[in-house]
Amino acid sequence: MLYQAELHPACDLLTSIGQIGTRTGRPELKVLIIRAMRGSFATVLNCMDGRIQVPVILHLLDRFGVEYIDTITEAGIVRCLSDEIDSPQTESTLHSILISIEKHGSRQIAIVAHDDCAGNPIPAEMQQDQVRVSVMWLKEHFPHCEILGLWVDADLQVQEIAQS
Ligand SMILES: [Zn+2]
Repeated sequence: MLYQAELHPACDLLTSIGQIGTRTGRPELKVLIIRAMRGSFATVLNCMDGRIQVPVILHLLDRFGVEYIDTITEAGIVRCLSDEIDSPQTESTLHSILISIEKHGSRQIAIVAHDDCAGNPIPAEMQQDQVRVSVMWLKEHFPHCEILGLWVDADLQVQEIAQS
């Protein structure tokens, strides 16, 4: 027997279910918590590069003090948000940010660029300028959110280079 036990207050996803077990020989309520469906969220706009996913998520879990990081990826995403504002990629990114904010309650957003980016092959200084432009652009669109700009160097060290 399965039943729905509760709904997360911040979203409409099923957060826990229960079932009747018979381990003790009599009906017993066993509630299974699906932890992945509840908790606190922040948002990251990251390049799709597989090398930087784990370092960035670990940094942000600690930095923002949340349980989960909603991860929106695009090759060289910082280029889209600084130089290609009207692109379909930027529109898709905005749509995903809104879901993270409205459905997961995120109030913190990070934007990331990194060394040796195949999707945005320009010098580090120019990428870091794009991060700063993107942070300002994100703050204009999401003024109630804390915005962070990150740079991941060749040693996969995460550095904070902008904040708003
Ligand atoms: Zn990249």
